[in-house]
Amino acid sequence: MVQINSNYLKLKAGYLFPEIARRVNTFSEANPQSNLIRLGIGDVTEPLPQACCEAMKKAIEEMSSYSGFHGYGPEQGYLWLRESIAKNDFQSRGCEISAEEIFISDGSKCDSSNILDILGDGNRIAVTDPVYPVYVDSNVMAGQTGSAISSGRYKGLSYIPLNAENGFQAEIPSESIDLIYLCFPNNPTGAVASKNQLARWVDYAVKNEALILFDAAYESFIQDSSLPHSIFEIDGSRECAIEFRSFSKNAGFTGTRCACTVIPKSLKGKASNGEVVDLWSLWNRRQSTKFNGVSYIVQRGAEAVYSVEGQAQIQKLVNFYMENAEIIRTDLCKLGYKVYGGEHAPYVWIETPKGQDSWEFFDFLLNKANVIGTPGSGFGAAGEGYFRLSAFNSRTNVKEAMQRISGI
Ligand SMILES: *Cc1c(COP(=O)(O)O)cnc(C)c1O
Repeated sequence: MVQINSNYLKLKAGYLFPEIARRVNTFSEANPQSNLIRLGIGDVTEPLPQACCEAMKKAIEEMSSYSGFHGYGPEQGYLWLRESIAKNDFQSRGCEISAEEIFISDGSKCDSSNILDILGDGNRIAVTDPVYPVYVDSNVMAGQTGSAISSGRYKGLSYIPLNAENGFQAEIPSESIDLIYLCFPNNPTGAVASKNQLARWVDYAVKNEALILFDAAYESFIQDSSLPHSIFEIDGSRECAIEFRSFSKNAGFTGTRCACTVIPKSLKGKASNGEVVDLWSLWNRRQSTKFNGVSYIVQRGAEAVYSVEGQAQIQKLVNFYMENAEIIRTDLCKLGYKVYGGEHAPYVWIETPKGQDSWEFFDFLLNKANVIGTPGSGFGAAGEGYFRLSAFNSRTNVKEAMQRISGI
């Protein structure tokens, strides 16, 4: 019989979102009249920017003619899109990133897990707790962890707790780590990192020859111009960091699919025989073999994000979600909840009321207000006692949800 990858059996059975779905279904069956408001899963709700739609329509038209037809594109992505990204997202902020260092993909979720393909075994790996579950589960699947322990953590991973006491800022580890996952603005806590805080991570990584995997999926939600949008705004980062970017949250591409990964050509790793190798070359080799690129039509849609109209339209989307976040923040504060995040991220992270753990508060909101959120404990053991509300929803739903919560 065929052998399976037994690492999959280590994954915790009760994965967060299926468990939420199960509880919501049970509730809906018992209360078929109820009108639930979902402030849970982190998917966008507003339609695509007009500029992106126009560009994709035009690209479809092109594809219907001999002269405009495009077959397989470059595995790394079309140069015009990579140049637009390099110029607008990086060079304009003083980051020394060239189009060649950008790899277009169909999502940051896959890139942030696929990156393990080019990394070896035996790295000491650190994640924050709470954390975006993809970073942890992809390491479990790749056999980079031991088995799950009762707290829901895995043996062999280092966890850096994020809590109100440390302002949801990961403390620099005292031990030596080879691989660190950072996400700012953060999902789920909504926290953001200052230049100084990122600089401390870059210093640590350079000193310890560690690699930082920096997830910047929410950079467009940053409201304060002094905060860094990219790890490459920090000196030394070209020697220690890979950055993941996505059009999912800023331009609503969650269902359209386009993202990119930035790997500086100066980034190095060590082979088991001691040889020092460029990570860029390995990722290029990996993508050329296992990936055939994002559709021409979608890349044209992503390119339109950088047009004048596109920029105005995505700014409007971000502002809309951030106004939702502000409503959630202020209303919950008035009700006496301890509220974090939501200022530079579309997530509000609240402390559950005394005597209720994350799942109890989930059931309480579901039953009493018919509002669905996400239990903090689903993002890691240190998320226990917290709860995530997402600003991705209509204004009507957000206001209605706050109204209902104020009535319980
Ligand atoms: C939504 C999200 C992404 C984007 O993933 P895609 O696959 O590009 O849609 C990446 N990282 C985090 C933490 C996210 O929440």
